[in-house]
Amino acid sequence: MRIVIVGAGVAGCVMARRLARLGDVEVVCLERVSRDDHSEAGTGLNVGPNAVKALNAIDPELAARITEASYIWRNWRISLTDGTVLFDLPLANVADGPGWRIRWSELYRVLREAAGDCVSYGCEITEISRDAGDPTKTSISWGRDGNAHRLDGIDLLIAADGRYSRIRRAISGEPAVRQTGVAIFRLLVPDTSNGLIDDYEQWFNGPNRLLSFRVPPGHIYIAGTFPIAPDELIAECSKTPDALRAAYTPRSAPPSAQARWLIDTIGANATETHWARMQEHELLYRAAGCNVLYLGDAAHGMVPTLGQGATQALEDAANAAMLITQRYRSGSRNVESWLADVETLRKDRMRFVMEFSLDATDTMLEGADPVKGTAHKNEVSFQNRLKALYRDVGLPLDGNVELRRHAQ
Ligand SMILES: Cc1cc2nc3c(=O)[nH]c(=O)nc-3n(C[C@H](O)[C@H](O)[C@H](O)COP(=O)(O)OP(=O)(O)OC[C@H]3O[C@@H](n4cnc5c(N)ncnc54)[C@H](O)[C@@H]3O)c2cc1C
Repeated sequence: MRIVIVGAGVAGCVMARRLARLGDVEVVCLERVSRDDHSEAGTGLNVGPNAVKALNAIDPELAARITEASYIWRNWRISLTDGTVLFDLPLANVADGPGWRIRWSELYRVLREAAGDCVSYGCEITEISRDAGDPTKTSISWGRDGNAHRLDGIDLLIAADGRYSRIRRAISGEPAVRQTGVAIFRLLVPDTSNGLIDDYEQWFNGPNRLLSFRVPPGHIYIAGTFPIAPDELIAECSKTPDALRAAYTPRSAPPSAQARWLIDTIGANATETHWARMQEHELLYRAAGCNVLYLGDAAHGMVPTLGQGATQALEDAANAAMLITQRYRSGSRNVESWLADVETLRKDRMRFVMEFSLDATDTMLEGADPVKGTAHKNEVSFQNRLKALYRDVGLPLDGNVELRRHAQ
């Protein structure tokens, strides 16, 4: 049996490492960048307790290696930029364990080391198609070091090639995108906060929101958002140091010490900020009539409000790797049925995560009242949804696919 994984990012590395243990299966993972190129990953990630739980269940050694490269995420606090605290939640109240705070480049380093030799780096995919002899299988061509390569008769192609998945576009077409109406910038800076910034926190000034936490070694991650018209690009004039200061400086009270440090740091590093618009894209786990599995950002795009992008890439990979391993070891070679089971296992869960992430963005939209909106986050209904998010990771531990429906 031949399995090809495209992308050695978050989901791809976990899949490659696990599936390489299947024994007599040929597992090839093709990655575009060179092994140590983490240039697209210059930011910090908060990875949810659900990913830690899922990864621990299938690969505790890998989870331990990530823990070593992380700080523990234990608490979530929301304040106004004048220092008024609105929400202060120990994750232990809603999760079975903590999350991680890690540099994205460190996460890639740990995962790529753990994935080992089945990853080929520096591969430029030139063609992806259904196999000429058997349309349920696929063929892929790529170039590496000036040489052309091709594999035909691929029994399972796993697209773990991220947000702009070339595999998904080639096999299943362009996913529909929905803009949310929120601009977001990100920044990673050396920690000069003298202890002001540590665990995961957010600060509101009207609907404009800052988010920050400390990551090893010695850095602070900052993200800022503000509302924009959903169908408009982010105006250049809103990216200047003065505009950013104005967006987060409270009008009727001085900023708290934390907010002051954040506002000064953003102002001083405005040229280093990376900008995006919050958006979602259509959910799809498998191709029609062809053995292609989409995982992570290739399968779904969600707004980043609950920090579930990399988190769900890990949860996807943990579930898919466990399910495929179980099916393979029990003698099943029916790849189509594996993919149907992965989809059954993940689809409702992911709909819930995407919907919840969007609902939690309510305080960041034009005209939002963060005080009222955050008060709602202290209510039982919101905290029950958080419990479902952080605890209900859906692993097929008993070998049967169980459909989990999530109460709102
Ligand atoms: C600035 C920023 C901050 C974020 N913060 C958070 C956060 O705090 N918490 C969180 O959970 N998520 C966060 N996310 C989202 C998270 O990073 C992604 O959801 C996650 O990396 C998706 O994992 P993946 O495995 O699907 O894809 P990726 O990790 O993007 O990996 C895709 C891999 O495929 C490779 N690739 C792409 N195209 C090809 C090709 N044609 N051929 C070969 N290889 C290819 C890429 O080089 C890459 O290695 C953030 C994202 C951004 C941009």
